[in-house]
Amino acid sequence: MSYVTVKKLAKRFADNSVFADIDFTIQQGEFITLLGPSGCGKSTLLRSLAGLTPVDSGEIWVNGENITHQIAQKRGIGMVFQSYALFPNMTVAGNIAFGLKMKKINADVIQREIAQVIELVDLKGKEQHYPHQLSGGQRQRVALARALVVKPRILLLDEPLSALDAKIRKHLRQQIREIQTELNLTTIFVTHDQEEAMIMSDRIFLMNQGSIVQAGTPEEIYTQPADEFVAGFMGHYNLIEASQAKQLFNMDTEWKVAIRPESIYVKEQGRQYEPHISAPLVGTIKNHQLLGNVIRYQVKVDECQFTVDLLNRSSERLRANGSQLELLFNLNEIQPVRA
Ligand code: ADP
Repeated sequence: MSYVTVKKLAKRFADNSVFADIDFTIQQGEFITLLGPSGCGKSTLLRSLAGLTPVDSGEIWVNGENITHQIAQKRGIGMVFQSYALFPNMTVAGNIAFGLKMKKINADVIQREIAQVIELVDLKGKEQHYPHQLSGGQRQRVALARALVVKPRILLLDEPLSALDAKIRKHLRQQIREIQTELNLTTIFVTHDQEEAMIMSDRIFLMNQGSIVQAGTPEEIYTQPADEFVAGFMGHYNLIEASQAKQLFNMDTEWKVAIRPESIYVKEQGRQYEPHISAPLVGTIKNHQLLGNVIRYQVKVDECQFTVDLLNRSSERLRANGSQLELLFNLNEIQPVRA
């Protein structure tokens, strides 16, 4: 049996439908990411699960219990927000203790629980600091500790890393994943950043305009996009019109085809290629960007422009704009995608 089951969940604000017909199941201990562009309904869905936003219809079940209309405090769900939402006039220990004090838990137990969770989020020595004395990353770890200390059965994270700079962000996402794995804590994480989603998740629920358009492992979502939107959102897929797919690859399809920039090769002289590699197509480099480990070329072939990613193995690979090259396509990797 699934740990979390959501059935036909729907929410509107006045005449604006935020999401409708949301259905999914989550297993205990899974790390799920709600990924999608800004405004697609991720935060509202998360808040609905937490009980902070009432839904209009549908059901939310956790561990065999229907919690759809239960108040937030009774759900056993912990939540961390982008903005930390710490009490500025309380110390780190005071912030973390707050939820336990509300539950009228014995002071000795509170001390013990705080010490444990402080250790878990790596904030030892900061117990008596106030939020303004901490960095953004430390504040977010206090918020995480505060959510964890009450031993939630589900942890919800609403863009918790968005306000942090790149280095701290990378460190904290790894830390969150380690803690989540150690506690085997069912977690739902919201982000609009596909790299973050790919790195952290067991499964991604990709949302667009109030619907989950594809649910799957990062690998599935990245390599088998369900439609044009997913292909456009994940990576830098080339989306080629059906008529051009026919002309260039002799493919019969009514849909556009999606081609990953890293599945296109440049023909090397004297090398034998397997049968699933296309005949070479001559293209002209219109533009290129050096992304460090990858060189991203824009190459024009007939009327089509392709993004082609090549590993930056040596400086010989850097070709000038205007030069010609022969592109090879892995025919197994050219996928029709529905509109
Ligand atoms: P995301 O988290 O994906 O950026 P949100 O869930 O915040 O998206 O918002 C989805 C839609 O719901 C947006 O159009 C937003 O304007 C609308 N919305 C969110 N909260 C409210 C609210 N309290 N009142 C009215 N509309 C809202």
